[in-house]
Amino acid sequence: MSKAPNLCFREGSSRPRCWSQEHLTSEGNTTMRALWVLGHPEATSLNGQLRDAGVAALREAGWQVEESDLYRDGFDPRLVCEGGADVRAEQDKVRAADLLVLQFPLWWYGMPAILKGWVDRVFEAGFAYDVIDPATGRPRKYGDGGLRGKRALTIVTAGDRPGSLAPRGISGSIEDVLWPLLHGTYWYTGMDALTPHLVTLARDVDAERMEQLADDLRTRLRGVMTEQRIPYRPLTEDDYDHSIRLLPHVAPQHRGLDAHLETCHD
Ligand SMILES: Cc1cc2nc3c(=O)[nH]c(=O)nc-3n(C[C@H](O)[C@H](O)[C@H](O)COP(=O)(O)OP(=O)(O)OC[C@H]3O[C@@H](n4cnc5c(N)ncnc54)[C@H](O)[C@@H]3O)c2cc1C
Repeated sequence: MSKAPNLCFREGSSRPRCWSQEHLTSEGNTTMRALWVLGHPEATSLNGQLRDAGVAALREAGWQVEESDLYRDGFDPRLVCEGGADVRAEQDKVRAADLLVLQFPLWWYGMPAILKGWVDRVFEAGFAYDVIDPATGRPRKYGDGGLRGKRALTIVTAGDRPGSLAPRGISGSIEDVLWPLLHGTYWYTGMDALTPHLVTLARDVDAERMEQLADDLRTRLRGVMTEQRIPYRPLTEDDYDHSIRLLPHVAPQHRGLDAHLETCHD
């Protein structure tokens, strides 16, 4: 007999979408909390300045903002053994946050190693993933998990031209390039992944463009709790088989990552 599929998310579940009941983002709770994590070695870099602009904008709007500046803090990204006081401190910040912001320069199509290591060490089993649903005895994942109820915004700068990080661009769309983070990390652990805030031609910035980039970021942040998440499919028997592959009738013409979007049909 085949094993039951490892499906655990149900739309309309009564489970709260927040890790912590005290910080539910329901209407009426005016204190929103963010954790802003920066993976860039220089405070005065383009990234450092955009971080400062973004954090200030959230605070002016009444948010409580925690920061993790990984190089400045000397965060050790090496996963040698699990746990540690530094990991628990970061987990406390993640747990309290309604919004997680990860900001970094695109290095070789991915995150700087220090930020990858932050995810490796902080998103531990039992905290972010391998959180068991008592009703089914199975781990909650893909649209459900330890970090359900939070939103995740990626702010990424890239040296390349805009067209190269778009569909049919030589690098692939930024959503495809960041699939391991957007789908494999945020969505896997239950967070709502937001469309990345991408700055291209990042080495070609003057004072005027710098101010425009800061303005664009402030505008984006104003709607960050109400914008639509990336519509990844939750892990349900409606869409996936026992080996977590899309059922034959779901987006049958599609072989790429777009097939995992609820908006992808035919
Ligand atoms: C290891 C590595 C791998 C990479 N891989 C990729 C990749 O795969 N794809 C890709 O597209 N890119 C890649 N890049 C490029 C990289 O993404 C960019 O260099 C980076 O995003 C730039 O961000 P920054 O914060 O480091 O910019 P900075 O170097 O700090 O600044 C960028 C420019 O903005 C100017 N500037 C900053 N602040 C101001 C200000 N206040 N007023 C006026 N001007 C200002 C600086 O003078 C500079 O010219 C890679 C780079 C490295 C080092």
